[in-house]
Amino acid sequence: MKIVNPATEDVLADVELRDAAEVDRAVERARKAYATWREVAPGDRARLLRRFADLVDAHGEELAGLELANAGHTVANARWEAGNVRDVLHFYAGAPERDHGKQIPVPGGVNLTFQEPMGVVGIIVPWNFPMVITTWGMAPALAAGNTVIVKPAEWTPLTALRLAELALAAGLPEGVLQVLPGAGEVAGARLVEHPDVAKIVFTGSTEVGKEIAAKAARQVKRVTLELGGKSANIVFADADLDKAARTAPYAVFDNAGQDCCARSRILVQSSVYDEFMSLLAPAVQGVKVGDPRDESTEMGPLISAEHLDRVRGFVEGTPWLRGSCPQGKGFWFPPTVLTPELTDRAFTEEIFGPVVSVVRFEDEAQAVRIANDTPYGLSGSIWTRDVGRALRVARAVESGALSVNSHSSVRYWTPFGGFKQSGLGRELGPDALAAFTETKNVFISSE
Ligand code: NAD
Repeated sequence: MKIVNPATEDVLADVELRDAAEVDRAVERARKAYATWREVAPGDRARLLRRFADLVDAHGEELAGLELANAGHTVANARWEAGNVRDVLHFYAGAPERDHGKQIPVPGGVNLTFQEPMGVVGIIVPWNFPMVITTWGMAPALAAGNTVIVKPAEWTPLTALRLAELALAAGLPEGVLQVLPGAGEVAGARLVEHPDVAKIVFTGSTEVGKEIAAKAARQVKRVTLELGGKSANIVFADADLDKAARTAPYAVFDNAGQDCCARSRILVQSSVYDEFMSLLAPAVQGVKVGDPRDESTEMGPLISAEHLDRVRGFVEGTPWLRGSCPQGKGFWFPPTVLTPELTDRAFTEEIFGPVVSVVRFEDEAQAVRIANDTPYGLSGSIWTRDVGRALRVARAVESGALSVNSHSSVRYWTPFGGFKQSGLGRELGPDALAAFTETKNVFISSE
Protein backbone atom coordinates (compact mmCIF):
# COMPACT_ATOMS: atom_id res chain seq x y z
CA MET A 1 0.00 0.00 0.00
CA LYS A 2 1.25 3.51 -0.81
CA ILE A 3 1.62 5.53 2.37
CA VAL A 4 0.85 9.18 1.74
CA ASN A 5 1.72 12.44 3.51
CA PRO A 6 -1.73 14.00 4.10
CA ALA A 7 -0.36 17.57 3.97
CA THR A 8 1.29 17.18 0.54
CA GLU A 9 -0.13 13.95 -0.95
CA ASP A 10 3.48 12.83 -1.56
CA VAL A 11 4.11 9.10 -1.32
CA LEU A 12 6.25 8.38 1.76
CA ALA A 13 6.62 4.63 1.54
CA ASP A 14 5.33 1.47 -0.02
CA VAL A 15 4.28 -0.95 2.70
CA GLU A 16 3.36 -4.57 2.24
CA LEU A 17 0.00 -5.49 3.78
CA ARG A 18 0.18 -8.86 5.53
CA ASP A 19 -2.41 -11.54 5.03
CA ALA A 20 -4.07 -13.94 7.48
CA ALA A 21 -1.41 -16.64 6.93
CA GLU A 22 1.28 -14.14 7.97
CA VAL A 23 -0.74 -13.32 11.10
CA ASP A 24 -0.79 -17.03 11.91
CA ARG A 25 3.00 -17.20 11.54
CA ALA A 26 3.39 -14.11 13.73
CA VAL A 27 1.20 -15.66 16.43
CA GLU A 28 3.35 -18.80 16.32
CA ARG A 29 6.52 -16.70 16.76
CA ALA A 30 4.87 -14.73 19.57
CA ARG A 31 3.84 -17.94 21.35
CA LYS A 32 7.40 -19.26 21.22
CA ALA A 33 8.80 -15.96 22.43
CA TYR A 34 6.26 -15.90 25.28
CA ALA A 35 7.65 -19.10 26.74
CA THR A 36 10.95 -17.34 27.44
CA TRP A 37 9.80 -13.72 27.88
CA ARG A 38 7.50 -14.56 30.79
CA GLU A 39 10.43 -16.21 32.57
CA VAL A 40 12.80 -13.23 32.19
CA ALA A 41 13.57 -12.02 35.72
CA PRO A 42 11.54 -8.90 36.61
CA GLY A 43 14.64 -6.72 36.95
CA ASP A 44 15.92 -7.81 33.54
CA ARG A 45 12.56 -7.17 31.85
CA ALA A 46 12.51 -3.74 33.48
CA ARG A 47 16.03 -2.99 32.26
CA LEU A 48 15.16 -3.95 28.66
CA LEU A 49 12.09 -1.72 28.68
CA ARG A 50 14.11 1.18 30.10
CA ARG A 51 16.67 0.70 27.36
CA PHE A 52 13.83 0.74 24.81
CA ALA A 53 12.57 4.01 26.37
CA ASP A 54 16.07 5.50 26.19
CA LEU A 55 16.33 4.61 22.48
CA VAL A 56 12.94 6.23 21.85
CA ASP A 57 14.27 9.32 23.61
CA ALA A 58 17.43 9.33 21.48
CA HIS A 59 15.30 8.98 18.31
CA GLY A 60 12.59 11.40 19.48
CA GLU A 61 13.04 13.89 16.65
CA GLU A 62 13.06 11.12 14.06
CA LEU A 63 9.86 9.54 15.45
CA ALA A 64 8.17 12.94 15.67
CA GLY A 65 9.15 13.65 12.06
CA LEU A 66 7.73 10.32 10.89
CA GLU A 67 4.43 10.89 12.72
CA LEU A 68 4.25 14.43 11.35
CA ALA A 69 4.75 13.18 7.79
CA ASN A 70 2.50 10.13 8.01
CA ALA A 71 -0.39 11.41 10.18
CA GLY A 72 -0.20 15.16 9.50
CA HIS A 73 0.41 16.04 13.16
CA THR A 74 1.85 19.45 13.93
CA VAL A 75 5.49 19.43 14.93
CA ALA A 76 4.59 20.52 18.48
CA ASN A 77 2.11 17.67 18.88
CA ALA A 78 4.39 15.10 17.26
CA ARG A 79 7.22 16.01 19.66
CA TRP A 80 4.88 15.74 22.64
CA GLU A 81 3.81 12.31 21.38
CA ALA A 82 7.40 11.03 21.02
CA GLY A 83 7.98 12.19 24.61
CA ASN A 84 4.80 10.45 25.72
CA VAL A 85 5.99 7.15 24.17
CA ARG A 86 9.25 7.45 26.12
CA ASP A 87 7.44 8.33 29.37
CA VAL A 88 4.86 5.55 29.07
CA LEU A 89 7.63 3.00 28.45
CA HIS A 90 9.52 4.27 31.52
CA PHE A 91 6.36 4.26 33.64
CA TYR A 92 5.57 0.62 32.88
CA ALA A 93 9.24 -0.41 32.87
CA GLY A 94 9.05 -0.07 36.65
CA ALA A 95 6.11 -2.45 36.80
CA PRO A 96 7.66 -5.92 36.54
CA GLU A 97 9.32 -5.44 39.92
CA ARG A 98 6.09 -4.13 41.51
CA ASP A 99 3.59 -6.58 40.06
CA HIS A 100 3.07 -8.38 43.37
CA GLY A 101 0.45 -10.89 44.33
CA LYS A 102 -1.04 -11.14 47.83
CA GLN A 103 -0.84 -13.45 50.77
CA ILE A 104 -4.36 -13.78 52.19
CA PRO A 105 -4.81 -15.35 55.67
CA VAL A 106 -6.81 -18.60 55.53
CA PRO A 107 -7.16 -21.49 58.01
CA GLY A 108 -5.22 -24.71 57.36
CA GLY A 109 -2.53 -23.38 55.09
CA VAL A 110 -1.25 -20.50 53.01
CA ASN A 111 -3.15 -18.66 50.29
CA LEU A 112 -1.22 -16.85 47.60
CA THR A 113 -2.30 -14.87 44.56
CA PHE A 114 -0.13 -14.47 41.46
CA GLN A 115 -0.50 -11.90 38.69
CA GLU A 116 0.29 -13.96 35.63
CA PRO A 117 0.73 -12.78 32.05
CA MET A 118 -1.95 -13.80 29.57
CA GLY A 119 0.14 -14.84 26.56
CA VAL A 120 -0.04 -13.23 23.12
CA VAL A 121 -1.72 -9.81 23.05
CA GLY A 122 -3.00 -8.27 19.80
CA ILE A 123 -3.14 -4.48 19.61
CA ILE A 124 -5.25 -2.95 16.82
CA VAL A 125 -4.47 0.71 16.35
CA PRO A 126 -6.34 3.58 14.59
CA TRP A 127 -4.74 6.22 12.37
CA ASN A 128 -5.38 9.29 14.50
CA PHE A 129 -2.65 8.80 17.15
CA PRO A 130 -0.68 5.85 15.76
CA MET A 131 2.46 6.05 17.91
CA VAL A 132 1.00 6.80 21.32
CA ILE A 133 -1.93 4.39 21.04
CA THR A 134 0.46 1.60 20.02
CA THR A 135 2.48 2.34 23.14
CA TRP A 136 -0.41 2.63 25.60
CA GLY A 137 -1.21 -1.01 24.87
CA MET A 138 2.27 -2.34 24.19
CA ALA A 139 4.11 -0.96 27.24
CA PRO A 140 1.97 -2.47 30.05
CA ALA A 141 1.43 -5.67 28.04
CA LEU A 142 5.17 -6.25 27.67
CA ALA A 143 5.91 -5.21 31.25
CA ALA A 144 3.43 -7.79 32.52
CA GLY A 145 5.26 -10.52 30.59
CA ASN A 146 3.09 -10.90 27.49
CA THR A 147 4.28 -10.88 23.90
CA VAL A 148 2.68 -8.40 21.53
CA ILE A 149 1.53 -8.17 17.91
CA VAL A 150 0.59 -4.67 16.76
CA LYS A 151 -1.69 -4.18 13.75
CA PRO A 152 -1.40 -0.50 12.80
CA ALA A 153 -4.08 1.30 10.79
CA GLU A 154 -3.64 0.89 7.03
CA TRP A 155 -2.80 4.57 6.46
CA THR A 156 -0.32 5.04 9.32
CA PRO A 157 2.08 2.15 9.94
CA LEU A 158 5.40 4.02 9.87
CA THR A 159 6.01 4.93 13.51
CA ALA A 160 4.93 1.52 14.83
CA LEU A 161 7.33 -0.17 12.38
CA ARG A 162 10.14 2.09 13.60
CA LEU A 163 9.29 1.37 17.24
CA ALA A 164 9.61 -2.36 16.54
CA GLU A 165 13.12 -1.79 15.14
CA LEU A 166 14.08 0.23 18.22
CA ALA A 167 12.76 -2.52 20.49
CA LEU A 168 15.02 -5.05 18.77
CA ALA A 169 17.97 -2.66 19.00
CA ALA A 170 17.26 -2.28 22.73
CA GLY A 171 17.63 -6.03 23.12
CA LEU A 172 14.04 -7.25 23.33
CA PRO A 173 14.20 -10.85 22.08
CA GLU A 174 12.88 -11.68 18.57
CA GLY A 175 9.14 -12.27 18.56
CA VAL A 176 8.40 -10.36 21.77
CA LEU A 177 7.12 -7.32 19.82
CA GLN A 178 5.98 -7.67 16.21
CA VAL A 179 4.33 -5.07 13.99
CA LEU A 180 2.21 -6.32 11.11
CA PRO A 181 0.74 -3.79 8.71
CA GLY A 182 -2.44 -5.17 7.21
CA ALA A 183 -6.06 -4.54 6.32
CA GLY A 184 -8.50 -4.45 9.24
CA GLU A 185 -10.86 -7.02 7.75
CA VAL A 186 -7.95 -9.36 6.98
CA ALA A 187 -5.04 -9.09 9.43
CA GLY A 188 -7.05 -7.37 12.20
CA ALA A 189 -9.90 -9.85 11.93
CA ARG A 190 -7.51 -12.82 12.00
CA LEU A 191 -5.85 -11.54 15.20
CA VAL A 192 -9.29 -11.32 16.83
CA GLU A 193 -10.28 -14.80 15.67
CA HIS A 194 -6.98 -16.58 16.35
CA PRO A 195 -7.45 -18.97 19.29
CA ASP A 196 -3.87 -18.41 20.49
CA VAL A 197 -4.31 -14.66 20.91
CA ALA A 198 -5.32 -14.25 24.55
CA LYS A 199 -6.30 -10.60 24.52
CA ILE A 200 -7.19 -7.85 22.06
CA VAL A 201 -6.71 -4.15 22.70
CA PHE A 202 -8.74 -2.31 20.12
CA THR A 203 -8.87 1.45 19.61
CA GLY A 204 -11.07 2.68 16.81
CA SER A 205 -14.65 3.24 15.80
CA THR A 206 -17.54 2.07 17.95
CA GLU A 207 -18.94 0.18 14.96
CA VAL A 208 -15.84 -2.00 14.51
CA GLY A 209 -15.40 -2.23 18.30
CA LYS A 210 -18.82 -3.87 18.66
CA GLU A 211 -17.99 -6.39 15.94
CA ILE A 212 -14.70 -7.24 17.66
CA ALA A 213 -16.37 -7.57 21.07
CA ALA A 214 -18.94 -9.98 19.61
CA LYS A 215 -16.27 -12.13 17.93
CA ALA A 216 -14.07 -12.13 21.02
CA ALA A 217 -17.03 -13.17 23.18
CA ARG A 218 -17.27 -16.45 21.31
CA GLN A 219 -13.88 -17.40 22.77
CA VAL A 220 -14.32 -15.42 25.99
CA LYS A 221 -11.24 -13.59 24.75
CA ARG A 222 -10.23 -10.61 26.90
CA VAL A 223 -10.72 -7.20 25.31
CA THR A 224 -9.97 -3.59 26.07
CA LEU A 225 -11.94 -1.25 23.83
CA GLU A 226 -11.25 2.45 23.30
CA LEU A 227 -13.95 3.73 20.96
CA GLY A 228 -15.59 6.89 19.70
CA GLY A 229 -16.76 10.00 21.50
CA LYS A 230 -18.98 13.05 21.28
CA SER A 231 -17.84 14.88 24.35
CA ALA A 232 -19.46 17.93 25.89
CA ASN A 233 -17.74 21.15 26.89
CA ILE A 234 -20.17 22.72 29.38
CA VAL A 235 -19.76 26.44 30.00
CA PHE A 236 -21.71 27.91 32.93
CA ALA A 237 -22.47 31.62 33.25
CA ASP A 238 -20.11 32.00 36.23
CA ALA A 239 -17.09 30.63 34.33
CA ASP A 240 -13.98 32.53 33.28
CA LEU A 241 -15.63 33.09 29.89
CA ASP A 242 -12.58 34.54 28.26
CA LYS A 243 -10.47 31.50 29.10
CA ALA A 244 -13.28 29.06 28.28
CA ALA A 245 -13.77 30.63 24.83
CA ARG A 246 -10.07 31.02 24.06
CA THR A 247 -9.33 27.38 24.84
CA ALA A 248 -12.48 25.81 23.36
CA PRO A 249 -11.13 25.70 19.76
CA TYR A 250 -8.07 23.69 20.83
CA ALA A 251 -10.29 21.20 22.66
CA VAL A 252 -11.81 20.21 19.34
CA PHE A 253 -9.54 21.36 16.51
CA ASP A 254 -6.40 19.78 17.92
CA ASN A 255 -5.25 17.07 15.51
CA ALA A 256 -7.85 18.57 13.12
CA GLY A 257 -10.62 17.20 15.34
CA GLN A 258 -9.48 13.63 14.73
CA ASP A 259 -9.37 13.03 18.44
CA CYS A 260 -11.64 10.66 20.33
CA CYS A 261 -11.62 13.17 23.23
CA ALA A 262 -12.60 16.16 21.06
CA ARG A 263 -15.08 18.37 22.93
CA SER A 264 -17.18 18.62 19.79
CA ARG A 265 -20.38 19.74 21.56
CA ILE A 266 -20.14 23.08 23.34
CA LEU A 267 -23.04 23.70 25.74
CA VAL A 268 -23.31 27.34 26.85
CA GLN A 269 -25.64 28.74 29.49
CA SER A 270 -28.20 31.00 27.76
CA SER A 271 -27.48 34.13 29.79
CA VAL A 272 -23.86 34.28 28.51
CA TYR A 273 -24.36 32.67 25.08
CA ASP A 274 -23.94 35.89 23.06
CA GLU A 275 -20.90 36.98 25.01
CA PHE A 276 -19.32 33.52 24.70
CA MET A 277 -19.91 33.42 20.93
CA SER A 278 -18.37 36.86 20.48
CA LEU A 279 -15.24 35.60 22.26
CA LEU A 280 -15.23 32.25 20.46
CA ALA A 281 -15.32 33.72 16.93
CA PRO A 282 -11.88 35.43 16.98
CA ALA A 283 -10.38 32.42 18.76
CA VAL A 284 -11.56 30.11 15.96
CA GLN A 285 -10.45 32.53 13.26
CA GLY A 286 -7.06 32.70 14.95
CA VAL A 287 -6.37 28.95 14.74
CA LYS A 288 -3.36 28.68 12.48
CA VAL A 289 -3.93 25.90 9.96
CA GLY A 290 -1.15 24.90 7.60
CA ASP A 291 2.20 23.20 7.10
CA PRO A 292 2.64 20.84 10.07
CA ARG A 293 6.42 21.42 9.97
CA ASP A 294 6.00 25.11 10.81
CA GLU A 295 6.52 25.58 14.57
CA SER A 296 3.64 28.06 14.77
CA THR A 297 1.08 25.78 13.08
CA GLU A 298 -1.78 24.74 15.36
CA MET A 299 -3.78 22.46 13.08
CA GLY A 300 -2.76 20.20 10.21
CA PRO A 301 -4.68 18.34 7.50
CA LEU A 302 -7.18 15.51 7.73
CA ILE A 303 -5.80 12.03 7.21
CA SER A 304 -7.15 11.27 3.70
CA ALA A 305 -9.33 12.37 0.80
CA GLU A 306 -11.90 9.77 1.84
CA HIS A 307 -12.10 11.14 5.37
CA LEU A 308 -12.25 14.71 4.07
CA ASP A 309 -15.38 13.78 2.07
CA ARG A 310 -16.94 12.22 5.14
CA VAL A 311 -16.33 15.33 7.28
CA ARG A 312 -17.65 17.61 4.51
CA GLY A 313 -20.86 15.61 4.50
CA PHE A 314 -21.70 16.87 8.00
CA VAL A 315 -21.67 20.54 7.04
CA GLU A 316 -24.82 21.43 5.13
CA GLY A 317 -25.67 25.02 4.31
CA THR A 318 -23.71 27.94 5.69
CA PRO A 319 -21.97 27.31 9.00
CA TRP A 320 -22.09 29.90 11.80
CA LEU A 321 -18.37 30.41 11.27
CA ARG A 322 -15.67 28.98 9.06
CA GLY A 323 -11.97 29.58 9.70
CA SER A 324 -9.31 29.37 7.02
CA CYS A 325 -7.10 26.60 5.67
CA PRO A 326 -4.65 26.09 2.80
CA GLN A 327 -5.96 25.41 -0.69
CA GLY A 328 -4.40 23.05 -3.19
CA LYS A 329 -2.66 19.77 -2.38
CA GLY A 330 -3.36 18.06 0.92
CA PHE A 331 -6.56 17.08 2.72
CA TRP A 332 -7.55 20.42 4.27
CA PHE A 333 -10.73 21.41 6.05
CA PRO A 334 -11.19 24.70 7.91
CA PRO A 335 -12.13 24.94 11.60
CA THR A 336 -15.92 25.18 11.48
CA VAL A 337 -18.55 26.21 14.04
CA LEU A 338 -22.18 25.09 13.73
CA THR A 339 -25.22 26.08 15.80
CA PRO A 340 -27.43 23.05 15.15
CA GLU A 341 -30.60 21.65 16.69
CA LEU A 342 -30.11 18.99 19.37
CA THR A 343 -31.39 16.36 16.95
CA ASP A 344 -29.16 17.27 13.98
CA ARG A 345 -26.66 14.64 12.82
CA ALA A 346 -23.80 17.07 13.36
CA PHE A 347 -24.76 17.27 17.05
CA THR A 348 -25.40 13.57 17.64
CA GLU A 349 -22.77 11.74 15.53
CA GLU A 350 -19.01 11.65 15.87
CA ILE A 351 -17.63 13.76 12.99
CA PHE A 352 -13.93 13.22 13.74
CA GLY A 353 -13.02 16.47 12.01
CA PRO A 354 -12.60 20.16 12.87
CA VAL A 355 -16.31 20.85 13.31
CA VAL A 356 -17.80 22.00 16.60
CA SER A 357 -21.47 22.43 17.46
CA VAL A 358 -22.65 25.02 19.97
CA VAL A 359 -26.04 24.89 21.72
CA ARG A 360 -27.62 26.71 24.69
CA PHE A 361 -28.93 25.41 27.99
CA GLU A 362 -30.93 27.07 30.76
CA ASP A 363 -29.83 25.36 33.98
CA GLU A 364 -27.55 22.71 35.46
CA ALA A 365 -30.08 19.90 35.13
CA GLN A 366 -30.62 20.61 31.44
CA ALA A 367 -26.85 20.82 30.82
CA VAL A 368 -26.36 17.37 32.35
CA ARG A 369 -29.32 15.98 30.40
CA ILE A 370 -27.93 17.22 27.06
CA ALA A 371 -24.38 16.09 27.91
CA ASN A 372 -25.64 12.58 28.70
CA ASP A 373 -28.02 12.30 25.76
CA THR A 374 -25.54 10.33 23.66
CA PRO A 375 -24.45 6.70 23.43
CA TYR A 376 -20.87 7.90 23.98
CA GLY A 377 -19.10 8.77 27.25
CA LEU A 378 -15.39 9.36 26.78
CA SER A 379 -14.39 12.80 28.01
CA GLY A 380 -15.70 16.30 28.64
CA SER A 381 -15.06 19.65 30.28
CA ILE A 382 -16.90 21.73 32.86
CA TRP A 383 -16.31 25.47 33.15
CA THR A 384 -17.52 27.12 36.36
CA ARG A 385 -16.09 28.97 39.37
CA ASP A 386 -18.53 27.22 41.72
CA VAL A 387 -16.68 24.24 43.19
CA GLY A 388 -19.88 22.58 44.39
CA ARG A 389 -21.39 22.73 40.92
CA ALA A 390 -18.15 21.49 39.36
CA LEU A 391 -18.25 18.44 41.59
CA ARG A 392 -22.00 17.80 41.12
CA VAL A 393 -21.77 18.02 37.34
CA ALA A 394 -18.55 15.99 37.17
CA ARG A 395 -20.29 13.22 39.11
CA ALA A 396 -23.44 13.43 36.99
CA VAL A 397 -21.86 13.36 33.52
CA GLU A 398 -21.55 9.76 32.30
CA SER A 399 -18.02 9.94 31.00
CA GLY A 400 -14.62 8.40 31.75
CA ALA A 401 -12.24 11.41 31.63
CA LEU A 402 -13.54 14.80 32.74
CA SER A 403 -11.73 18.04 33.38
CA VAL A 404 -12.83 21.14 35.27
CA ASN A 405 -11.66 24.52 33.94
CA SER A 406 -9.32 22.67 31.62
CA HIS A 407 -9.50 20.46 28.55
CA SER A 408 -6.81 17.93 29.35
CA SER A 409 -7.77 14.26 29.18
CA VAL A 410 -4.55 12.33 29.15
CA ARG A 411 -1.80 11.92 31.71
CA TYR A 412 0.03 8.62 31.45
CA TRP A 413 -0.14 7.99 35.20
CA THR A 414 -3.93 8.44 35.47
CA PRO A 415 -6.60 6.13 34.03
CA PHE A 416 -8.15 6.76 30.62
CA GLY A 417 -11.17 5.16 28.99
CA GLY A 418 -14.84 5.39 28.21
CA PHE A 419 -18.29 4.89 29.72
CA LYS A 420 -21.16 3.49 27.65
CA GLN A 421 -20.33 2.89 23.97
CA SER A 422 -17.02 4.76 24.24
CA GLY A 423 -15.26 1.68 25.49
CA LEU A 424 -14.56 -1.09 27.92
CA GLY A 425 -11.71 -1.14 30.42
CA ARG A 426 -9.08 1.50 31.10
CA GLU A 427 -5.66 2.26 29.70
CA LEU A 428 -2.76 4.13 31.33
CA GLY A 429 -2.42 4.79 35.05
CA PRO A 430 -1.42 2.33 37.72
CA ASP A 431 -4.25 -0.11 37.00
CA ALA A 432 -3.65 -0.75 33.29
CA LEU A 433 -1.25 -3.53 34.21
CA ALA A 434 -4.15 -5.52 35.66
CA ALA A 435 -5.72 -5.54 32.20
CA PHE A 436 -2.76 -7.60 30.97
CA THR A 437 -2.61 -10.16 33.76
CA GLU A 438 -4.80 -12.93 35.15
CA THR A 439 -5.07 -13.41 38.89
CA LYS A 440 -4.29 -16.93 39.98
CA ASN A 441 -5.15 -18.13 43.48
CA VAL A 442 -3.07 -20.95 45.01
CA PHE A 443 -3.86 -22.58 48.35
CA ILE A 444 -1.17 -24.69 50.00
CA SER A 445 -2.36 -26.96 52.77
CA SER A 446 -0.27 -27.12 55.93
CA GLU A 447 -2.05 -30.23 57.13
P1 NAD B 1 -11.55 1.94 12.58
O1 NAD B 1 -12.47 1.29 13.53
O2 NAD B 1 -11.98 2.05 11.16
O3 NAD B 1 -10.15 1.21 12.54
C1 NAD B 1 -9.34 1.01 13.67
C2 NAD B 1 -8.43 -0.16 13.46
O4 NAD B 1 -9.21 -1.35 13.34
C3 NAD B 1 -7.59 -0.10 12.18
O5 NAD B 1 -6.31 -0.65 12.46
C4 NAD B 1 -8.35 -0.99 11.23
O6 NAD B 1 -7.53 -1.56 10.23
C5 NAD B 1 -8.86 -2.05 12.17
N1 NAD B 1 -10.06 -2.78 11.72
C6 NAD B 1 -11.03 -2.35 10.87
N2 NAD B 1 -11.96 -3.30 10.69
C7 NAD B 1 -11.58 -4.36 11.43
C8 NAD B 1 -12.12 -5.67 11.66
N3 NAD B 1 -13.26 -6.06 11.09
N4 NAD B 1 -11.47 -6.50 12.49
C9 NAD B 1 -10.33 -6.11 13.11
N5 NAD B 1 -9.74 -4.90 12.92
C10 NAD B 1 -10.37 -4.04 12.09
O7 NAD B 1 -11.25 3.35 13.23
P2 NAD B 1 -10.37 4.55 12.64
O8 NAD B 1 -11.18 5.22 11.58
O9 NAD B 1 -8.99 4.07 12.31
O10 NAD B 1 -10.22 5.48 13.92
C11 NAD B 1 -11.14 6.44 14.25
C12 NAD B 1 -12.01 6.01 15.42
O11 NAD B 1 -11.20 5.64 16.53
C13 NAD B 1 -12.90 7.11 15.95
O12 NAD B 1 -14.20 6.61 16.19
C14 NAD B 1 -12.26 7.49 17.27
O13 NAD B 1 -13.12 8.09 18.20
C15 NAD B 1 -11.71 6.21 17.73
N6 NAD B 1 -10.63 6.44 18.70
C16 NAD B 1 -10.85 6.15 20.03
C17 NAD B 1 -9.86 6.39 20.98
C18 NAD B 1 -10.09 6.11 22.44
O14 NAD B 1 -9.11 6.04 23.16
N7 NAD B 1 -11.30 5.94 22.90
C19 NAD B 1 -8.64 6.88 20.59
C20 NAD B 1 -8.43 7.15 19.24
C21 NAD B 1 -9.44 6.89 18.31
